[in-house]
Amino acid sequence: MAFVTYSYSAPVSQSLFDRAAAVTPGGVNSPVRAFRGVGGTPRFMVSGSGPYLTDADGREYVDLVCSWGPTILGHAHPEVTAAVRQAVERGTSFGTPVEDEVALAEEIVHRIDPVEQVRLVSSGTEATMSAIRLARGFTGRPKVVKFAGCYHGHVDALLASAGSGIATLGLPDTPGVTGAQAGDTIVLPYNDLDAVREAFAAHPREIACVITEAAPGNMGIVPPRDGFNQGLKDLCAADGALFISDEVMTGFRAGPRGWYGIDGVAPDLMTFGKVMGGGFPTAAFGGRKDVMDHLAPAGPVYQAGTLSGNPVATAAGLAQLRLLAADDFAAHAVVDSAARQVRELATEALTKAGVAHTVQTAGTMFSVFFGDYGDAGVRTYDDARKQESFRFTAFFHSMLSQGVYLPPSGFEIWFVSAAHDERAIERIAAALPAAARAAAEAVPA
Ligand SMILES: *Cc1c(COP(=O)(O)O)cnc(C)c1O
Repeated sequence: MAFVTYSYSAPVSQSLFDRAAAVTPGGVNSPVRAFRGVGGTPRFMVSGSGPYLTDADGREYVDLVCSWGPTILGHAHPEVTAAVRQAVERGTSFGTPVEDEVALAEEIVHRIDPVEQVRLVSSGTEATMSAIRLARGFTGRPKVVKFAGCYHGHVDALLASAGSGIATLGLPDTPGVTGAQAGDTIVLPYNDLDAVREAFAAHPREIACVITEAAPGNMGIVPPRDGFNQGLKDLCAADGALFISDEVMTGFRAGPRGWYGIDGVAPDLMTFGKVMGGGFPTAAFGGRKDVMDHLAPAGPVYQAGTLSGNPVATAAGLAQLRLLAADDFAAHAVVDSAARQVRELATEALTKAGVAHTVQTAGTMFSVFFGDYGDAGVRTYDDARKQESFRFTAFFHSMLSQGVYLPPSGFEIWFVSAAHDERAIERIAAALPAAARAAAEAVPA
């Protein structure tokens, strides 16, 4: 791919990236960080405070990535930091149960009705992988239905037509996943209940579960049509399969009770991550007690982790969830208002510059697709892939050069936090007109 050369430079980040590339594949530990979708030098960040990040070249940015979701209270929130510091001083890991694990589990169980029991793990990937194993163990069935464009972490069986970095890099699927691992995965178009009905008809009593992002955010925001999640639940129930809602991204972010709190469809199993870890590697899966009872040591389905329920991570997650819930979820209202302002400002600037685009939302989450989607909007992964990425690239670099750090891919959400105050939003507003003009003038590479 050819990219325009931008006049701003980041010499310290570039030298760090060169060092990284020598010892780490592609110079990063997670592909989308490498800027392959937009070109240029990935910024190495050295610190974060509230809505701001500072890079190794000393440049400050308003952050619209928020660590891909987790830092919903802003960076280095004083109370989360204090909870972490206290936990660290007590010791970092014991390999025994600790009280904060119980408290974090209670916080989730009390807040999310369909979750009667929960198991803590260390990443969203582990949560979905374990939920699927549990569904297969519980039902004694092999097959899994997933949707094109939904990302559930890098679980072998779920990497077919996945969103996120797979979409950014334009990969069909990935080598290293065998036919046996992927052969029991049925990939269907998103928002298409008829396709799900047909899959159940073609494979009666063979499907262990249908897994879906509660409201997909890894191909940009593509919300479920009215009745889609309920339809999935009903089709699963009729066949005896489990309905798994992946709320790793939406949980505690789309709203106080995640997407479940918005559409009210109760899944059999749910997965969580990102926000619930408070910026640490903690995730969870949970749901119906009779299903969760099949997990070891209560039942025969094995699942474990040396650092699962780690005391520092659980202290961070617990502090963050409690702060989010304080004063009747006041922080969520701030996130909602910040998201609304930023998306309205983006729409205004793009419209003024004559750039065809569509903004899609799921609760407080939103993303911007460049291109003319008419009234129908983006309903499937195929739609999402038709976006004019070259316009996003120009837009992204203009914003970056003006000190606004967007996700380096048009397939990602623009994340805000409760720390995105008036000053931060003003800085975004000031950067948008020039970025919108750059998008208008962009030509395909
Ligand atoms: C981020 C994400 C995952 C994977 O979580 P990791 O912690 O990155 O492994 C799974 N599902 C969804 C919906 C996600 O957004």
